[in-house]
Amino acid sequence: MNENTSHDLKLFNSLTRTLEPFVPVHEGEARVYTCGPTVYNYPHIGNMRAYVFADLLGRTLSWKGYKLTHVINITDVGHLTDDADDGEDKLEKAAAERAQSIWDIAKHYTEAYWEDIKALNIRQPAHWSIATDYVPQMIDYAKGIAEKHCYELDSGLYFDVSTIADYGSLARAATEDGEGRIDAVEGKRNAADFAIWRKTPEGETRQMEWDSPWGKGAPGWHLECSVMSEALLGLPFDIHTGGIDHREIHHPNEIAQNQAHSGCDHSGARVWMHNNFLIDRAGKMSKSAGEFLRLQLLIDKGIHPLAYRLMCLQAHYRSELEFSWDNLIAALTRLKRILMSVERLKGRLSSEQQEKPPHPKLTEMHDRLDTAMSDDLNSCPVIPLLEELLSLKKVDPVQRMALLREIDLILGLDLETLTRTDLRVRPKSATITEEEIEQKLDLRQQAKTDKDFAAADAIRDELIAQGIELMDGDPLRWEWSISI
Ligand code: AMP
Ligand code: ZN
Repeated sequence: MNENTSHDLKLFNSLTRTLEPFVPVHEGEARVYTCGPTVYNYPHIGNMRAYVFADLLGRTLSWKGYKLTHVINITDVGHLTDDADDGEDKLEKAAAERAQSIWDIAKHYTEAYWEDIKALNIRQPAHWSIATDYVPQMIDYAKGIAEKHCYELDSGLYFDVSTIADYGSLARAATEDGEGRIDAVEGKRNAADFAIWRKTPEGETRQMEWDSPWGKGAPGWHLECSVMSEALLGLPFDIHTGGIDHREIHHPNEIAQNQAHSGCDHSGARVWMHNNFLIDRAGKMSKSAGEFLRLQLLIDKGIHPLAYRLMCLQAHYRSELEFSWDNLIAALTRLKRILMSVERLKGRLSSEQQEKPPHPKLTEMHDRLDTAMSDDLNSCPVIPLLEELLSLKKVDPVQRMALLREIDLILGLDLETLTRTDLRVRPKSATITEEEIEQKLDLRQQAKTDKDFAAADAIRDELIAQGIELMDGDPLRWEWSISI
């Protein structure tokens, strides 16, 4: 393990609803599976919170010295408009509405998702597993559980949840929920039974369909995660992550499949972790509501994506986080302040480095960092800790920089390479370039020096008319911004 960290990592396991010390299945390793996006549309920023969280987990495990193997899947088949087997396949529906090939839709939105991953500084997992690459394995897997755990109806092969003793224990309220679910499929034995294979209805052709012992069709959504996690990580593996909604249906169903297939009563993963939701009272998180909150929308408004990352890190992953533009802009301002201090610190680093014993203040701060992150990834106090570190003017800059690097390995805010100019993203609506603004500001400065205040004011008014907000005497020395 990392000799720099001494506290035991504790994680909140949704299976037991308690904090548990992390004990890896394989000594020194951490194997993590994250439920990825359904690529029928752009992800909204709420979806991206799930991957910022998974990245924080991965970074912390790496920092703690575990050899990380992270898998994120891409769902390009099988996910219906309702998680509990009701409605249409999300990708088939999007393809029909837009008269496009389903494969083109999947490719376009997978690439868009990967761009968001990059923009948020989320580390690449060891594997991006694509569901349609695993259909033959899914069919084999289904064959293995069909006889003991499934039954066939005209519409497909269904998993009988009553064959699993503690079905739904992850969701806790599973039985009631199951009973409450819309029982859209005629003939299901239990309301919570779910499709393993969905047959193409007679007389129809689907863009995505495969031959199987149960006829032409497509796999049920839950199957892919059980198959790919086992294929890439082996059972049991360490940690399975996803958004809190998955705790109710998708993950209990994955667990049921894992138990059926392995014949063991373990859940497949030892620890199941769920991030809480990013909520937006204006309803802009719903993809069906026209303009919704995509990362690109933030960028178009001139807000750097890492401000959104910081906004996520300011809250604990298990707390609900409310989105508002004010909160986001406050996070952007905070990031700007941090960055200015980092630039000052960089300016104080000298080339001749003397070996000095670690400063006691930094040793104590390192321990606080370790305590917070070991406490179920509590990133919230780490941000003020970082600010405190930057304010310690009397402490050796080289040592401060070393601790800053360590903190940023975990937070992933790119503090060493990000520049002030990067943070001043240009809104799409802006008609003026940064150079033009800077030139006008120079002219204004000159006019002020010449005591020609009328000319200085005229330049200011001209800039305001073009949407440029001037911040005279800004303590951040961020003299202007383009208003959104
Ligand atoms: P999907 O593409 O719908 O399968 O969702 C991708 C991931 O985003 C899943 O882990 C969901 O649980 C998660 N998720 C969906 N909505 C939100 C939200 N508003 N806040 C945080 N996570 C979410
Ligand atoms: Zn999944």
